Amino acid sequence: MTERDVTTKQGAAEKDGSARGDEAGVRNQVGVPGEGEVRGEGGVPGDGGVRGPGGVRDDREVRDDAGGVRGAGGVRGERGDQARGEARVVEGVEKRLFIDGKWTDAEGGATFDVVDPSTGEVLCAVADATPSDGRAALEAAAAAQAAFAKTSPRERADMLTAAYELLMERVDDLALLMTLEMGKPLAEARGEIAYAAEFYRHFAGEAVRIDGGYQTAPAGNARFLITKQPVGPCLLITPWNFPMAMGTRKLGPAIAAGCTSVIKPAHQTPLSMLALMEILAEAGVPAGAVNCITAMDAGGVMEPLIRSGLARKLSFTGSTRVGRMLLEQCAEQVLRTSLELGGNAPFLVFEDADLDEAVDGAIAAKMRNMGEACTAANRIFVHASVIDEFGRRLAAKMSALTVGRGTEPDVRVGPLIDEAGLTKVQTLVADAVERGATVLTGGQVAPGNGYFYPPTVLTGVPRDAAMADQEIFGPVAPLTPFSTDEEALAAANDTEYGLVAYVFTNDLRRALHIAESLETGMVGLNQGVVSNPAAPFGGTKQSGLGREGGSIGIDEFLETKYIGIAMP
Ligand code: NAP
Repeated sequence: MTERDVTTKQGAAEKDGSARGDEAGVRNQVGVPGEGEVRGEGGVPGDGGVRGPGGVRDDREVRDDAGGVRGAGGVRGERGDQARGEARVVEGVEKRLFIDGKWTDAEGGATFDVVDPSTGEVLCAVADATPSDGRAALEAAAAAQAAFAKTSPRERADMLTAAYELLMERVDDLALLMTLEMGKPLAEARGEIAYAAEFYRHFAGEAVRIDGGYQTAPAGNARFLITKQPVGPCLLITPWNFPMAMGTRKLGPAIAAGCTSVIKPAHQTPLSMLALMEILAEAGVPAGAVNCITAMDAGGVMEPLIRSGLARKLSFTGSTRVGRMLLEQCAEQVLRTSLELGGNAPFLVFEDADLDEAVDGAIAAKMRNMGEACTAANRIFVHASVIDEFGRRLAAKMSALTVGRGTEPDVRVGPLIDEAGLTKVQTLVADAVERGATVLTGGQVAPGNGYFYPPTVLTGVPRDAAMADQEIFGPVAPLTPFSTDEEALAAANDTEYGLVAYVFTNDLRRALHIAESLETGMVGLNQGVVSNPAAPFGGTKQSGLGREGGSIGIDEFLETKYIGIAMP
């Protein structure tokens, strides 16, 4: 066995569970329906501090290159069971394209590798779709559209309910699969599966509530019949950071509305979406209604589909850079477009805030998903009178979080997604320090395999640091002082992004004034988590177009039709 030499610290992880859950915020405070079943699943394991520094063991060497398990001689006891469990979930997933209800090899049989970010080793290979595979998938979706639109709302609701139940039944295996391909700790992965499933339960309800209207024309000589129809075949593109939930957040409303689709997950994390295809087929979603393609050349495969004229809508979650490009491509066919893009969330701590609550909120907003979330607190502005104390408490809690492979029971901070992600975080921290920031904890990568970065708190981060302008996407909390409410507000809004902001204050008037003045689609008031399937998620400015979730989430997949009826 090799020792993984990542930086870990002794001490207790948050026992209060304040940072539990994934983007979902599967927390009672936030009130996700159904959390009764999943409470704690998405949570921070109770006491994370049981390892010695640098002492996260790596069991990867019991795998062979194909992701299989070596002979019994090399695998002992619990480690052997764990390795066998990992091999089983990886082997259990289809690695081919899901087109028209059938599993299909990519044209020419090409594949690409899926890598475990905790080791940098290959987990398995999946089909690498060509543009003609993409075309076949979209043609299948287009061919299935008319029949799928005719299914009854109740039938579609039943499909979603069945898929919700299957996701929850298989939460452990699906969470392990996600941890292996993406790196997040198992507890967070379980939380994400529950969050992802909840979109199906939520949209099962919305499917049977698609409404319309009947109205008398102002002149009295006609009637208006207003009805909603599915938009038509959709292209859905998802990122790697929430491999299951970003898919169900689109597929839930698409299925509820009666839209067929082709979904393309990120190349780093295709396995969760492939596993979901099996669940949807089992749940009774008809052939062609949902198709899945995996590809290394995202642009080469998706651009011809966007321009094909066969699709009616694109729903994309990912970076603002790619979102802008896709919006341009969508212009050619005037596709309906929903974009969930990047964030640069300000986190404001006023002098009257409950500091412990604010520290816990900052950890929730920063450390979920190792900081690799569009909702991650990216700029933490703290009133000058409390910044030293806030920084001290935050650094103490952050440094107590255990870093390691997400499969280990006490790990709270897994690896970043890849080498590029790690290099970006290192570069941003070096830049901030060069410009005068002070490191309160972390900041140094220990040698070893995998893309680990330690929980880091920086204080005195100047407003012109590179990290003030772009997503850090890592476990780095940058603190910057402010003196007045106006200064805090101006700093918070000084960004092209507008996804979410967090405000910690006990002054009601100040809270409402700041919340109303923030140029973001969402605000967390005295809470570090806003995501909830029953709430409208989305951003303003360059963080996107449209909303996912909530009662309006289904509207993104519906066209409004008005039928004028003469009544002389
Ligand atoms: P990304 O590089 O923009 O990729 C997102 C998806 O787009 C992936 O499936 C990617 O495929 C695909 N893609 C890349 N280039 C493309 C192209 N030219 N044409 C068509 N598809 C293309 O983003 P990421 O690094 O995966 O995800 C992180 C970003 O997502 C962050 O900016 C984060 O803030 C954002 N995000 C936003 C939300 C939200 O709700 N607002 C939620 C989660 C994440 P490949 O990976 O296979 O190239």
